[in-house]
Amino acid sequence: MLDPRQLYGFLPSNKTGVEKLATLALDMRWSWNHAADKFWRQLDPGLWDLTQNPWLVLQTVSRSKVEEVLNDSLFKEKLDSLLELREKAATKPAWFQEKHPEAVLTQVAYFSMEFMLNEALPIYVGGLGNVAGDQLKSASDLGVPVTGIGLFYQQGYFRQEIDQYGNQQVIHTFNDPGQVPITPLRNEGGEWIRIQVPLGGYKIWLRTWEVQAGRVRLCLLDSNDPANLPVHRGITNELYGGGADLRIKQEIILGIGGWKLLDAINLKPEVCHLNEGHSGFVVLERARDYSKKSGCSFYEALSITRAGNVFTTHTAVPAGFDHFNPSLMENMLGKYTREELGISMEELLALGRENPDNQNEYFNMAYLAVRGSGAVNGVSQLHGKISRQLFRVLFPRWPIEEIPIGHVTNGVHMPSWDNEYSDKIWSKACGKERWRGDLGNLGKSMCRLSDDDLWQLRNSCREGLIHFIRERFERQALLGGSITHQQWDLNTIFDKNVLTLGFARRFVPYKRPNLLLNDKNRLLGLLNQKSQPLQLVLAGKAGPNDEFGKALIREWIQFIEKNNLYQKVVFLSDYDMEITAQMVSGVDLWLNTPIRPWEACGTSGMKVLVNGGLNLSTLDGWWAEAYSPEVGWAINDAAHSDSDGLSEAKETEVLFDLLEHQIIPEFYQQNEKGIPTRWIERIRKSMSLLAPVFSANRTVREYTENYYLPAATRYLERSGNQGELGKKMYEDHMHLKANWDAISFGDIQNETIGDFHVFQVAIRLGEINPEWVIVEIFSEGTNGGMPEKVPMERLMDPNNPGVQVYRGKVTSAKPMEHFTIRVRPNLKSTSVPLEVSQIFWEH
Ligand SMILES: *Cc1c(COP(=O)(O)O)cnc(C)c1O
Repeated sequence: MLDPRQLYGFLPSNKTGVEKLATLALDMRWSWNHAADKFWRQLDPGLWDLTQNPWLVLQTVSRSKVEEVLNDSLFKEKLDSLLELREKAATKPAWFQEKHPEAVLTQVAYFSMEFMLNEALPIYVGGLGNVAGDQLKSASDLGVPVTGIGLFYQQGYFRQEIDQYGNQQVIHTFNDPGQVPITPLRNEGGEWIRIQVPLGGYKIWLRTWEVQAGRVRLCLLDSNDPANLPVHRGITNELYGGGADLRIKQEIILGIGGWKLLDAINLKPEVCHLNEGHSGFVVLERARDYSKKSGCSFYEALSITRAGNVFTTHTAVPAGFDHFNPSLMENMLGKYTREELGISMEELLALGRENPDNQNEYFNMAYLAVRGSGAVNGVSQLHGKISRQLFRVLFPRWPIEEIPIGHVTNGVHMPSWDNEYSDKIWSKACGKERWRGDLGNLGKSMCRLSDDDLWQLRNSCREGLIHFIRERFERQALLGGSITHQQWDLNTIFDKNVLTLGFARRFVPYKRPNLLLNDKNRLLGLLNQKSQPLQLVLAGKAGPNDEFGKALIREWIQFIEKNNLYQKVVFLSDYDMEITAQMVSGVDLWLNTPIRPWEACGTSGMKVLVNGGLNLSTLDGWWAEAYSPEVGWAINDAAHSDSDGLSEAKETEVLFDLLEHQIIPEFYQQNEKGIPTRWIERIRKSMSLLAPVFSANRTVREYTENYYLPAATRYLERSGNQGELGKKMYEDHMHLKANWDAISFGDIQNETIGDFHVFQVAIRLGEINPEWVIVEIFSEGTNGGMPEKVPMERLMDPNNPGVQVYRGKVTSAKPMEHFTIRVRPNLKSTSVPLEVSQIFWEH
C-alpha cells in the first residue's frame, strides 16, 4: 500500500481509505483491465468520460465527494475487493514462476526511448513505444521480472490539428507531473531520489519517477530539475525533437542515467534489454560500474557485462541508426571517457565505428550496442535477414547466414487492444486467463465459435467505430478544421452495414499512405458503388518538419473535399492510442502498404486480429511471415518471391484488383441470414491462427527463454568471484585476436574416394591453442539454402609439434571445387562471431 506522504501533489482528503484509492489509481493496470471503470466513473462521470484517467479523477474531485463515497459501505466493499484482486494478480505465481522456478534470472532492465502504455501518459510517438509498452504489460501478465527505464518528457510528441486547407498544425501540450499517473521515486527515508550524470564538463541533475503497471514498474528520468541550468532543464522536453545535439544528451540521460538509477534503487539486473540503439550508452556505464566495484579494467568489465546485454534493432535502413559526429562525442563525453571509463576518446569512438582507424567516421549507436551485447536480434523474420546485411560490415569475411543476429517477431498486448465485445467472445471461448499462460489451445477453442457469433461481433465492433467517428467528426467540424462548417446530419456519416477499411500510420513516404490515391478514379468508383460500397477511415501524423509527409496528408484532405466524400471517407486528426484502439476494433479490413523491406515489423495490423479484422498488406515485416491465402490478402505476393516488391504502379494495380475482384465481393456475398460465410471463415482462421502468435505474450516468452535466461546465466558465470572466469575469458579472447593473423595453411591434399571428397590439411596455429578453434570444410548453400559445414578431425603428428593436421570428408554430391576449408574460433561460453569475429579461409 502506498504511504500517502509519498505522493506528489495532494490528495483530496486524508480520510482513511484514500490511500487505497490512490494505490488503484496509480496502477496503470487500469489501462488494460477495466474492472474498476464504473467505480471511477462514480467519482466524476464527466471527467472520467473525457479522460479515463483515474489518477486525474482522484486529484480533481472534491473532499466531500471522496468522503461521501468512502462512507458508503457498498463503495468500500467494492474498493476492498478491487484491491484484493490487484494484490492477487500481483503476487500469485504466473507463467514465469511456474515454468522457470529455478531461474537464476531475477531482474531484467528494459531500456527504451519511448513507452506507450496509455493516453494518460503520453511519452511515445508510435511503433517503438508501442512495442515497449506492450512488452511491459505482457511481462506483467506472465510474471517476468522486468523493470522499464525511460524518459519523462515535459511535452512528449506534438499533437496534431488539421486546418481547412489540409495543413497539419503542430500543438504542444504539457505533461503535468501532478496529473499523469507517476510519482517521485523516493528512498526509504522519503527523500526524492535524484541522480547526476556527466554531460560535457557539467554534471546535471536528473529527477526520478516511477509508474506502476501491474507487476512491473517503469522508472523515468527527466532533467527539468530547478537545480540545473535552464539549458539543461529543457533536454527532456520533447521526444525526438531537435537535432543530433539534443539527441545525444537525451541518450546519455537514458543510458548512463538509466544505469545509475538502477544502482540508486538497488536493483541489480542480470540482463539489460536495449530496445533500439538509443540506449546504447548503458553498456558503457554498466561496464564502468562493474569495473569500479570489482577492480578490473574497463575492457575486462565490458567483456563480462556484455554477456548480460541484449540488443534489439528496429531499423531497416542504415540512415535509421543514430550517428554522432566525433567532435560532438568529444564535447559531450570526452571527460567521462577519460576520467571515468579510463580509456581514450579514440578507443571509445572505435566501439562505434566500422573502421576504427577512420578518423572521419561518425559514431554509430547501433554498432556500440552490438559490440556491447551478448545477443542481438531483429524484430521479424525478414528484418532479421535485413539486419544481417546491415551489420555485416562488423563481421568481415563471415557468410551472411552466420552474422550473429537472430529475430524475435514483435507482438501486441491483446488485452490492451481487444474491445468489450471481443473480450466477451474470447472469454466465452477461452476463459478469462487466456493471455496469461503459454496460450496452448487458444486457437482451437476460437475455431469453435459460430458464424453467428463472429458476425455479430463484427457488426457490434463496426457500429462502435461509427459512433466514435461521428463524435470525432462533429468535434472536428466544430473546431473548424478540415471539415467545413456546413450542417451535417451526423446519422448520414458512415453506414454501419458497409465494408470499412482503415489506414492509420505515421505519414512517411515509405509507408505510402496514399497508394490508394495513385488511381483516384478507381478509388472513387469503389467508394461510390451503390450495391457494394466501401468506406474509409484514416489517421496519421507527419513529422513536424517533413514537408513530404505533410503533403500526403493534404492530398487526402483535398481528395475528400473535392469529391465531397465526407460521408464515407474521414481523416481523424491527432492519431494516438485512443484512435488506434477505436479503429482496430471497428474496421473490417486494415490496409498496410510499406515498401518492402522497410517496415521492420509493424504492429498496427496485429491489433485488428483479436477483434476479427482482416489484413491487406504488402508482404513486409510481420505480414511476410503471417500471411497465407486463408487469413488475408497480400499485395506484392509475386508468387511469394524474395524480391523486393513490384513497381509502385504494379502494386497499386494489384491493390485495386484485390479490392474489386476478391475482397469487396467476398464481404457482400451473404447467405440467407445475411452472413458472409467465406469472410467469416477467414476471420475464424485469422483469429485462431494469428492472434496467439502475434501477441506480445508469445514475444515476451521468446525473449525470456531464448535471450534473457541464457544471458543471465552467461553473465553470472563471467561475473562471479569478482569476475574470475570473465577476466580469464577476456584474456583468452585477446590472446586469440592477437595471434590470429599468424595462422597459415601448409600442405593440402584433396581426393575423391568413392562417394566422398576427402580433405587433409596441415595448419600452423602458432601460439593459438588448438582447443580454441574449429577447422571445417565449408560450402555455400545452393538456391538460398544454408551453407554446409563439416568439422575436421585433428590428427596427432608427434613429429611436428608446430603443425596441426586435420582430416575430414564430405559426400561428393557437389563438385570438389565447391568446398573450401576454414578456421574459426571456438571458445567456451563465447558467442562467435559476435565477440570474437576472426575467421581464416583457405581461399
Ligand atoms: C500501433 C501503433 C503504431 C505502430 O503501428 P505500425 O504498424 O508500426 O505503423 C503507431 N502509432 C500508434 C498510435 C499505434 O497505436
